[in-house]
Amino acid sequence: MAQEQAMRPIATQVVRRTAPAPVSLQVDVAVLGSGISGVAAALEAARLGRQVAIIDGLPALGGQAVHSIIGTFAGLYSNGPNAYRLTHLVADQLLYDLEQVGAVYYRRGPLTTVVMYDEVALGRWVEESVRRAGITVVLGAVLREVVRDGRRIRALRLATRYGEVEVAATGFVDASGDAALTWMAGLPCREPKDAPIYGTQMVVLEQVEESELPGAETMRQRLAEKANAYGFRRLDGFAFAYPGRGMALVNMTHIPTPLDPVGMSRQTLEGKAQADAVVRFLREEFPQAFGRARVRAYGLPGIRQTRWIVGRHQLTADEVRQGVRFPDAVARTAWPIELHDREEGYVWEPFGPDHVHYVPLASMTPPDVDNLVACGRCIDGDALALSSVRVMGPGIAMGAAAAHALDLAGTGSVHALDLDALHRRLAENLDRRD
Ligand SMILES: Cc1cc2nc3c(=O)[nH]c(=O)nc-3n(C[C@H](O)[C@H](O)[C@H](O)COP(=O)(O)OP(=O)(O)OC[C@H]3O[C@@H](n4cnc5c(N)ncnc54)[C@H](O)[C@@H]3O)c2cc1C
Repeated sequence: MAQEQAMRPIATQVVRRTAPAPVSLQVDVAVLGSGISGVAAALEAARLGRQVAIIDGLPALGGQAVHSIIGTFAGLYSNGPNAYRLTHLVADQLLYDLEQVGAVYYRRGPLTTVVMYDEVALGRWVEESVRRAGITVVLGAVLREVVRDGRRIRALRLATRYGEVEVAATGFVDASGDAALTWMAGLPCREPKDAPIYGTQMVVLEQVEESELPGAETMRQRLAEKANAYGFRRLDGFAFAYPGRGMALVNMTHIPTPLDPVGMSRQTLEGKAQADAVVRFLREEFPQAFGRARVRAYGLPGIRQTRWIVGRHQLTADEVRQGVRFPDAVARTAWPIELHDREEGYVWEPFGPDHVHYVPLASMTPPDVDNLVACGRCIDGDALALSSVRVMGPGIAMGAAAAHALDLAGTGSVHALDLDALHRRLAENLDRRD
């Protein structure tokens, strides 16, 4: 037996002679981007019985929610002391499952309620949910070309380290955050005009003395006093403790996130250098809380806004402030306007306890194609409006809405849906108040 095994060849010589044909997939719904909004779209489409593929340029699922270590679901709850949840469907299962493994913490402030999560547990939740739903996963796959035939997208062509892949589908979801699918399809998009919208390099610290953490006001004052000494350009930010774990999530840097491959690569190093300066500041200025702290993990660069679609409707800051409920509303949130349009800080415009604002399907659908829906941080809004709906609560709701819109459209158009039917399917995300 041992001799037989020894004689079996264990390697063979291979030479590449012709370019292999791309691996070809045919599904009902192809989702580009596996951040929280793309995952919500894929899971909901699978729940509706559709064959789904989810594609990401990273070699792992989860987008920024997992790999940039955002750490907090915002925009899931209404404001004030009697806050109720605004997004259900996929979010119900997500929160329930994370609660079962002790991976969420509800942080109820006087103004907003946010849900802190363990990003490792979220990453595994995404992977297991996608695996159990039978969704085809194409990872490490960067969009190279969009095959478009008039008003219909036909297929996505992707480059992976293992060769080319072509994914043909009836409907497509652009959950890329950068409107990559819409852009590559030759459709109009928007970009910041004069100044960038800044991203952030997130850091997780361990060996933090939670009970000694400085309050927001103390932190702000010390930053203002010491910014020059530490070479900071951002003058605000926060370090949140994840209760009971001796860990803190630090969001105190600002980096531009250009759509230029070399420039963006440079920023990944710049962000870490800024983060290290922040850690030095925390250790030296707040030794009781951070004296023994060290970096547990750096996230991938956190990107807020880069390029987004031109939809049938551009959501405006006034519509957000007034809480306009559109006939084709598909998602809601109460998150403040939070625009990081300056290096030193950001615009923060919170809303009252009764406030809710809505995302219409028209802001998720480019007018010139019938089978494409965008969701997450690349839908159409002016910069202020977008800053209030690009957080993860409404991102999950938009993902679910994208799945239902494509399901209802079938081989028809997402611009000609039965809005009553769409509303009935999404009623929990629009009307429920408990
Ligand atoms: C620093 C920071 C802090 C934040 N804080 C909070 C917070 O506390 N709470 C909150 O709710 N929200 C917060 N946000 C906002 C929120 O995290 C993001 O807007 C949200 O995670 C975006 O989700 P998404 O699914 O739209 O996109 P993403 O998570 O960005 O996912 C897009 C995916 O598409 C893939 N992709 C992109 N282009 C291509 C391509 N060409 N080919 C293949 N794949 C591609 C990417 O690899 C990525 O995985 C924060 C954002 C930042 C940057």
